[in-house]
Amino acid sequence: MTQRIAVLGATGSIGDSTLAILAAHTQDYNVYALSGYQRLDKLFALCQQFEPMRVCVPAAAVDDFAQRLDEAGLSIDVVSGDSGLIDIATDTQVDTVVAAIVGAAGLPSTLAAARAGKRILLANKEALVMAGQVMIAAVKSHHATLLPIDSEHNAIFQCLPPAIQQNNTHIHESNHGVRRLWLTASGGPFLQQSFEQMQQASVAQAVKHPNWSMGQKISVDSATMMNKGLELIEACHLFDLPESKINVVIHPQSIIHSMVEYSDGSFLAQLGSPDMKTPIAHALSYPERIDSGSQPLDLYALSGLEFIKPDLHKFACLRLARQAMQAGTQATIILNAANEIAVAAFLASRLRLTDIANINEQALTEIQVPLLDENADIDDILAIDRLARRHTEALVAEMA
Ligand code: NAD
Ligand code: MG
Repeated sequence: MTQRIAVLGATGSIGDSTLAILAAHTQDYNVYALSGYQRLDKLFALCQQFEPMRVCVPAAAVDDFAQRLDEAGLSIDVVSGDSGLIDIATDTQVDTVVAAIVGAAGLPSTLAAARAGKRILLANKEALVMAGQVMIAAVKSHHATLLPIDSEHNAIFQCLPPAIQQNNTHIHESNHGVRRLWLTASGGPFLQQSFEQMQQASVAQAVKHPNWSMGQKISVDSATMMNKGLELIEACHLFDLPESKINVVIHPQSIIHSMVEYSDGSFLAQLGSPDMKTPIAHALSYPERIDSGSQPLDLYALSGLEFIKPDLHKFACLRLARQAMQAGTQATIILNAANEIAVAAFLASRLRLTDIANINEQALTEIQVPLLDENADIDDILAIDRLARRHTEALVAEMA
């Protein structure tokens, strides 16, 4: 049966990889809906190529976009804003939602997809960092399916026993001999450079990742290793484990995408070329396998695989993520919000790269909010997110 897919964040890097796979498998997948926020010319071209039933654009662009589609003879329902994204994510015609919007902006639609019982291919890690408990509870109670396409989490998923995969990936203490998870990290563009060199990094240097081609925000997060911090929190929620059971190891070649360590001493790893098409194709077709179009790994050409312990002085964001996870959801919301503001300020050349960690730490220490318990709802979460953004804007203004 053809799977009908909504790609939210279709104009981004994950959107590109997803649509390349869908274009090569039109008999199995139908592109039912798309969304884009910037680069609307690209979104228009995607509408011409895939002719979806629905498209979501920013509110200010609806009339223009609808007119362009009309003039091109395309009859596509145009919706807008958060409500438009939620409309698409919950559309009864949609089987699978690819959650590929960057940042907190992706949370409402991803959560709505969970509450509508959809199959969710999750790239938007920030949704779990902000609302892990609410998201996982919604997935369970509405019988949704959550499949990670973040490469590390997808690798771990592939290395878990089928019984855990089918139980929405939840590992319990005594279960199936899982001892700990190992998240691999490339170490980013500054792995071989000193803290002082990192301090002087330009935007162009920071977003130039050695192994992966990605959007700007996640590229900066990789340079500071905040990305691995966010992924640590993502993994805690996804696999129901405390942060103490998840180790991070730098593996500069990005060939092993993560590992599961078992009590008998076995380490299971998933390997592949650094290409997001592999985890996306895995999740699209799970439990089957399809051709992703990625370059097969050439084992004969590999010269060696290295593993290095991360330096938590240089990569303080990783330490902050563990602290926030220990402190609770309110802290992971603050860290995520502060980081989004600090990264935007760095990309606008208002902060140095190494100031991102300072800003994040200051936000975590200074912002006082009540502890969130497991009954917290999305409004409580968004209220803390807004407060943390305002506070961090002021911190950036002070430092800039
Ligand atoms: P990107 O910047 O390339 O694309 C982001 C997409 O979100 C675009 O379609 C953009 O139009 C849309 N968007 C941006 N702001 C929005 C807003 N306010 N409202 C609605 N839509 C908005 O980002 P990306 O690299 O594709 O990353 C997307 C998500 O996937 C992120 O959460 C990232 O952490 C995660 N991820 C990305 C990669 C990768 O290789 N790029 C790997 C793993 C995980
Ligand atoms: Mg990743």
